[in-house]
Amino acid sequence: MTTGRSIIAEIDFSQDGKQMGYLRLPHSVHRSAYGWLPIPVASVKNGSGPKVVLMAGNHGDEYEGQVILSRLIADLEPEMVGGQVIVLPMSNFPAARAGRRTSPIDEGNLNRTFPGDPNGTVTQIIADYIENVVMEGVDLVVDLHSGGSSLLYHEACMLVSAGAGPADDPDFKSLLSAFGLTYALYIDGAATTGGFSSSAACRQGGSAITTELGGGGTVQPRLLAMADQGLKHMLGAFGALTGPLVPDAAPGAPTFQPVDPHSHYVYANEPGIFEPAAELGDRVAAGQTAGWIHFVDTPGRAPAELRFAAAGITVCKRQPAMCQRGDCLWHLAEKS
Ligand SMILES: [Zn+2]
Repeated sequence: MTTGRSIIAEIDFSQDGKQMGYLRLPHSVHRSAYGWLPIPVASVKNGSGPKVVLMAGNHGDEYEGQVILSRLIADLEPEMVGGQVIVLPMSNFPAARAGRRTSPIDEGNLNRTFPGDPNGTVTQIIADYIENVVMEGVDLVVDLHSGGSSLLYHEACMLVSAGAGPADDPDFKSLLSAFGLTYALYIDGAATTGGFSSSAACRQGGSAITTELGGGGTVQPRLLAMADQGLKHMLGAFGALTGPLVPDAAPGAPTFQPVDPHSHYVYANEPGIFEPAAELGDRVAAGQTAGWIHFVDTPGRAPAELRFAAAGITVCKRQPAMCQRGDCLWHLAEKS
């Protein structure tokens, strides 16, 4: 398929049926003069109906979604789909292959790069193609993230951009309920102007759900099963998936929690070793000790005590103990 862009798709998105292959991104390097980067893609299309784009590996060190979508590609058949489901299990392929948040080629963070640039760096080219070709006319984008190497989320979460776009729409809220992950976290979002995949979806006229499924560089079976069940149940409710692949019920009932972009975050103010003073899922009070930063290289120096600025539930924490000034150590959410 030709698009006037440098990426060449091995599959034809306009065709019915199940197709699997690669988006070929030309990449001429010392090891491979005429080579291309193979970005895996699948399209399962069955007549008219909603167009859904499922993404994982947007950040390459977030493995849960990559596992879920890899399995889904194998299981999906055209008769199970109403409309079209396009799957990108390693959206930022160079980052996903390296197991890194950002691309080792250009240090690009795909989920800050949309709408990208067809003549830019590798990450910018990928962002442009996903937003303007893969998401063209999309109804719903689901981007499966997790905490990655540096963060660990409590349970399975859905992130929703608050204050703009479809997030306040009752139909969209019922879609989040059909997904049924533990928390729906309403964050401040530049719904149509941001560099996120959700911003790209909004610009293309669609809705977007971003997940956070654990993290810490791991794959947790219970959260994986929840997300897998929830995704299929939600796609069934949306009319994109039919048949035995659609579970009878959502995995749970989410609680809807706003996240304050300032008071709900705790950052390291000095480099050192972070000792948390709470567990994930705790309800903490404003002023409560959040943890300490230890300066083991300075004998006798007292640790710096950090406090939560607001009350809330600890939904996310930094996974490695080593921290630098500016690292996010905690983020909270508070039920409205
Ligand atoms: Zn991510």
